[in-house]
Amino acid sequence: MKIAIPKERRPGEARVAASPDTVKKLLGLGFEVVVEKGAGLGSSILDQHYTDAGATIAEDAAATLKDADIVLKVQRPMTAEEGNDELALLKSGAILISHLAALQNREQVKAYAQAGVTAFAMELMPRITRAQSMDILSSQANLAGYRAVIEASNAFGRAFPMMMTAAGTVAPARVLVLGAGVAGLQAIATAKRLGAVVYAFDVRPAVKEQVESLGGKFVEVDETATKNAETAGGYAKEMDEDYKRKQSAKIHETLKKTDIAISTALIPGKPAPVLITEEMVKDMKPGSVIVDLAVEAGGNCPLSELDKVVVKHDVTLIGWANMPSRIAVDSSALYAKNLLNFITPLVDKETKALNINWEDEIIKGTCLTREGKVVHAAFAGEGGA
Ligand code: NAD
Repeated sequence: MKIAIPKERRPGEARVAASPDTVKKLLGLGFEVVVEKGAGLGSSILDQHYTDAGATIAEDAAATLKDADIVLKVQRPMTAEEGNDELALLKSGAILISHLAALQNREQVKAYAQAGVTAFAMELMPRITRAQSMDILSSQANLAGYRAVIEASNAFGRAFPMMMTAAGTVAPARVLVLGAGVAGLQAIATAKRLGAVVYAFDVRPAVKEQVESLGGKFVEVDETATKNAETAGGYAKEMDEDYKRKQSAKIHETLKKTDIAISTALIPGKPAPVLITEEMVKDMKPGSVIVDLAVEAGGNCPLSELDKVVVKHDVTLIGWANMPSRIAVDSSALYAKNLLNFITPLVDKETKALNINWEDEIIKGTCLTREGKVVHAAFAGEGGA
């Protein structure tokens, strides 16, 4: 069976869906692996590294994807309207495994079904212990959280740690992390390592202990209101108006004393909550920096702009889309490993053939389309279960 790794074609995407390490393991599972020429360059992986691992290099996307049984991608295939119909290159019956942003691109899910492609949306991976090693959102958010602090430090005209020198003392930077999930916790850890004083805040009360264990100070809003702030899957719920008012006042007060805000707050399937208003930005100290990691979901600050760095009210707002792509060597390695961990249990070790248990929670949670139909529960009424 042939596994294809095409080059990512969406603008700004430097990652790749396989590493030399995962290529070796895929070959060990009994697959033939074909990588498109130059697919790894954005992640510092040369074609030679892939061939040394046992892969074959194909000249272009068409040759890579021709007759492929499984296609591994980082981002959903481009469409004809976007000027490059990648989906058309997949054969009917092919399995597509990728971050498909399925909930935001519902029409495209129908297109996978029409093309006869069995599509697995890795971003819908259930958050169960068994699936942790396959969780692309976690592996990528972790690196995004780290990188957000590095981007902030680069744009900040001051140092992070306190420094006592003969010429005087440099005060430590004060960092506020809004949303302490996977990205936020890594941002806290990174800012602490750089020597900043770190504050953090989240609607989910379970987070307080995690923040404190990393040396951050938890900003408390309303303990009773947060009792029901978490879904069974560990994600945040949208909060009521009273809570939002109290939260806003607390954030405003904290931001006046903050040099750097890293915001990561997301609510699955909904626009990101607005946490930093224009009034708050105006009250921040000149030279402060905001990194809005939620910018692709509408942003936690309405002043941040998608894929741009802008200065407003003397505050630098960093709105880079796709932060994991800015640390592509590591993010590709972890992403590729996530996909390998997903594929490995699908292969029968003796026959080396695919043996997918369609009733498995991980398969049901991620499989969007099969045999020409949309089958996922999140698409009920649109052909889904
Ligand atoms: P996320 O990316 O969906 O959201 C980021 C953070 O924003 C979350 O912590 C959320 O609570 C917070 N948030 C949402 N609305 C907010 C608001 N109005 N104000 C402040 N904060 C707000 O979440 P995530 O980082 O993917 O992780 C969510 C949880 O899932 C974490 O507890 C994480 O440890 C857990 N998790 C579990 C597994 C697993 O068991 N397999 C894997 C990954 C993550």
